[in-house]
Amino acid sequence: MRSPQAQSASFLKDMHAIMIDIDGTLLRGNLALPGLVDFFNFLNEHDIQFQTASNNATKTLSAYQQKISAFGVNLSINNILTCSTVTALYVQEKYPGGKVYMIGQSGLEEALTQAGIQIISGMNGKADAVVVGGDYSLTYEKLKYASLHIQHGAEFIGTNPDLLYPTDEGLVPECGMTLVALETATQVKPVIMGKPNHFMFDLGMKKMGVQPIETTMLGDRLETDIQGGKNTGMKTILVETGVDNQASVVTKGIQPDLVVRDLPELVAIWKEQLG
Ligand SMILES: [Mg+2]
Repeated sequence: MRSPQAQSASFLKDMHAIMIDIDGTLLRGNLALPGLVDFFNFLNEHDIQFQTASNNATKTLSAYQQKISAFGVNLSINNILTCSTVTALYVQEKYPGGKVYMIGQSGLEEALTQAGIQIISGMNGKADAVVVGGDYSLTYEKLKYASLHIQHGAEFIGTNPDLLYPTDEGLVPECGMTLVALETATQVKPVIMGKPNHFMFDLGMKKMGVQPIETTMLGDRLETDIQGGKNTGMKTILVETGVDNQASVVTKGIQPDLVVRDLPELVAIWKEQLG
């Protein structure tokens, strides 16, 4: 007898590409979640293209690559997408050779610099945009200069909307909290690059050369991963190893196409569908 899960999973047969959240989906803190290596082996064996899609703007692509590769996954930098990459591309296309004032860390700084964008300090120059990501060394000075540049007409861009970030100490302030402070100060709303907005999903599909109808989004958060995937027209899979689970699907009212306990269960269901 087929399980209800197996019935709702029939869409997997038609999936040629997958976008994959990292924290809570592939990793928990510095640890690999169960089945990580087998999951990527499965994707490679079945020629399913993939892009990771992380809302975390603080880490560089090579930091993620080293972290995931250390668990035995053969992962190229070209398969990794974070909201820093998306933000840098957005700024590069809109303001070629432009200047930005940045609040953020190495992940964002590297992405912007590699895209040929000049990062200015203080009020040394007119910024085309103020780019804000998670910054564990946030200061009054940084908030002041960001506010002034936005008041002077710089576009206000946020890497991701997340208010809090899970750490060993508990939930600590993330990018979203800085965005709220600056929005309150300037009365300007930021354009947000990360999930659930379309920018990262669009770039991921463009890199893979695929359409939403053949792509699925896998993640652990309903409001970002699942809602974003749905908005883009993708099929969505919630994995219960991070923030959300079957119970929060009911309370939050965001319905994924499939809910799986963990990566091994997803691989088992997908294999069954492929026969
Ligand atoms: Mg996550």
